[in-house]
Order: sequence, then structure tokens, then C-alpha cells
Amino acid sequence: MNVADTDRMELILFHSGYRRTQEKEEADLILVNTCSIREKAEQKTFSLFGGLKPLKATNPDLILGLTGCMGQQDGEKMLKRMPFLDFVLGPDQVEGIGKAVNRVRESDKPFVWTGFDSEKIYSIPEISEDLPQKPGPSAFVNIIKGCDKFCTFCIVPFTRGREKSREPEELHQEIRHLIKHGAREIILLGQNVNSYGKRGLNNSIPFHELLYGIAEISGLQRLRFTTSHPNDFTRETIRAYRDLDVLVNHLHLPIQSGNNEILKTMRRDHTVEEYLELIDELKSEVPDVSLTTDIIVGFPGETEAQFQDTLKVMERVGYSSSFMFSYSPRPGTPANEMLDSVPEDVKKRRLQEIIQLQNRLTEEQGKSYQGKTVEVLIEGSSSRPGYSFKGRNPQYWRVNAKGNEGSYKPGDIVKVNVEQTSGHGLSGVIQ
Ligand code: SAH
Ligand code: SF4
Repeated sequence: MNVADTDRMELILFHSGYRRTQEKEEADLILVNTCSIREKAEQKTFSLFGGLKPLKATNPDLILGLTGCMGQQDGEKMLKRMPFLDFVLGPDQVEGIGKAVNRVRESDKPFVWTGFDSEKIYSIPEISEDLPQKPGPSAFVNIIKGCDKFCTFCIVPFTRGREKSREPEELHQEIRHLIKHGAREIILLGQNVNSYGKRGLNNSIPFHELLYGIAEISGLQRLRFTTSHPNDFTRETIRAYRDLDVLVNHLHLPIQSGNNEILKTMRRDHTVEEYLELIDELKSEVPDVSLTTDIIVGFPGETEAQFQDTLKVMERVGYSSSFMFSYSPRPGTPANEMLDSVPEDVKKRRLQEIIQLQNRLTEEQGKSYQGKTVEVLIEGSSSRPGYSFKGRNPQYWRVNAKGNEGSYKPGDIVKVNVEQTSGHGLSGVIQ
């Protein structure tokens, strides 16, 4: 989501005359679009700013802005801690980036803009045909912002506000525009995409209907979405996987924990059994579907036996890859009031254990692709020596492919014979 927000800010600034530079020493404006999902993300931001501060001494006209969730959470504190900042902008103020930069030019006083947008409907107006860069073959499209779930560990509902969806017509228009400029795959984005259209829209349709509608757009070759919440993931969406050729056979469905007690204290509002029922139904409709997930270890009160339940679920589902995290207390969240009872070294060990298990699961699945042919959307040049192209198969495995460099270009879909696997990657030769 931050990548999509950054692209949007770049587009707005492009139309105010800014151009991207690769060298920070050359920049007139530096924005750091921050994340506060875990403490580690925040620490990275502070050390990054430590490196940027000296640039202000050599270039006093340099504008330095902090955008994103850290600003939303702690705007004034950020200014106090880093007085060299010119402004702080929250994630709901992305559209105001041009105005914010102008204001810095007019006045020397640092400021914080972190109000939530008061419109009922979420809209990202089209700016112009003129783009700072061509979209790649795979492009993000925000369909819903915010989150109403309030999982007890999570800061997102506080930093990104309540759920708001974009009108289907606006989404169709944006997707047609992206395809016209070279996109072949669209990734629909939201904290909880399955909640799309629940309220507020003039033309209210549920998520699965949005999928059926988008699938009709001419030139679209692949459709993905992320992230889903198990509670809002409907049977109709499972049918969409079966019915729609463009909807790829991959689902990212966070489980967080394999234990019902922990899921309850996390306020995920579903059981492990309900989750598995969904997965089994999807697997029976779409046998070659690949599944990925998010997992947190060391949540307050997590016992060794409860942690073992998570390992069991991972094995039972057979995830092809997972985002795995050690619990990080977030200020203002309900879990922050609970005793952070799992010692750091135990959290670390549990994290290592699930990473090892995931590596094994990934390796086993990788082997099952060996000798087979996979369909790859070429996204660009490969950095792996001996390979010309990189891309992904429908199940979201990274693929490096050998082939005649002049014969293919980004956006092409090719068939690759898989010869080797390593980690969550496949490599082979274009047929
Ligand atoms: N909306 C998505 C997830 C957004 S955050 C969803 O509900 O699935 C991405 C992931 O970060 C979460 O799924 C969770 O696994 C992890 N995460 C969020 N808050 C965390 C915290 N306080 N400590 C550790 N991991 C966290
Ligand atoms: Fe956070 Fe839960 Fe919302 Fe995901 S669904 S963004 S984990 S509160």
C-alpha cells in the first residue's frame, strides 16, 4: 500500500514539475513514506533520517518530509524528535502532497497534516494521460482503504482510518488506463479487500461482483488481490476463482495463529476450523491454487503448545510462502495493554522454527514444479547470471527464464520449462 501511495505522490509531484532522481545529494525534495506496523519499521526510519539530516546542512533549500503511518500516529512527536523535518503528512493526506510542498516554500514553520479525509467515498481522481513513467506489466490499484477490524495487535485502523471503497466505474476507468499504457496484470489492493463495497458507494456491489466486472476489461491478462480477511472471504469469491480465467490461482489469506484461544485474543473472530473449511473448499474448486499467509509468533500469553498449533496448521495447509513476524507491541492497541509475556529469546526461537518449517514446505512445493511447464508474465530483465528475464507464474512464484533477449519483452506471457528451484524461486528455459 505504501508503494501505491508513493507512486501516487510521485504522479502528483510530477505534475508540479518534480522529476525523480536516483541520487539523494541531487534532490530538492526528499520524502520518506513510513510504516509503523512493527517497531522495527520505525527504527529503520529513524536511522534513515539520521543519514539524511546532514544533507540539510549542505543544501539549506532541501525540503524533507515524513509521510505515512508514523506521521499519522505521532506527527508532533516526529517534529520534536527530528526538528530538521519540514513537514509530516498522514496516509490520508496523500492527495495534498503538492499543497504541502508549496506551503513549505511559503513559510519556514514545520507543520503536521494528519486529518482523515471527510468524504464518504474514497476517490483517486485521474490526473492526466501524462505519466512520470510507464506502468510495469503488473500494476497496483487501490480499491478500498482503511480497516474496521481492529485486531488487537494492529495499528492500521488507527493510522489509516475507517474502511472506504472506490466506485466501480472509477476502478474500471483506472484499469483501462493502466492497460492502455502497458499493464497486463492488475493487483487490487486494500487492508481487507473482501470488505469492498460494504457501504457508502452510490453503486454498491460486493467484492466478487467487482472481480467479475474487472475480468471483462479487454487486454487484462491476470488479476490478483491482496489482502483478504478470512471472515469476509465468501463462497462467491471461491466461485470466482473457478469461473474467471484471469483470476490467478493464488490466495494470500492471513491466519496469524493456529490456535483458537490466541485467535480470540487477537480478535480475529474466526476459528482455525472455519479457516481450514474455507481453504479446503477453495482447494477442491481450484486444485492447483497456491496459498500464502501472515503469521505472528509470541503474541501475549502464547504458550509452547499454542505455538505448536501454528506449526500444525502451516503443515496442514501447505503454504507456498509466508510473511512471518515476531509480535511487536504497538502503542494505542488493545494488545499493548496485555502483558507481553513471551520473552524475546523465545519469540526469536519460535520465529526461527516457523521460518525453517516454511522453508521446507516451500522447497517441497518447488520440487513439484521441476520438469514442468509454467506460464510466466515477463516483468523485466533478470539479475541472475545466465538468465534474461524475470517474472512470476500464476501461483506467484518468482521465475528466472533463459531465452533470446530480442524475442520477448516485459508484458509477454511465455511458457517456461522449470529446471531448477531455489527458495521461493523457479528457473528454466522459455519453450
Ligand atoms: N490487513 C492485513 C494485514 C495488514 S498488516 C490483514 O489483516 O491480513 C500485515 C501483517 O503484519 C499482519 O497480517 C500481521 O501478521 C503483521 N502484524 C501486524 N501488526 C503486528 C504486530 N503488532 N506485531 C507483529 N506483526 C504484526
Ligand atoms: Fe490490521 Fe486486522 Fe485490519 Fe488487517 S484486518 S489491517 S491485521 S486490524
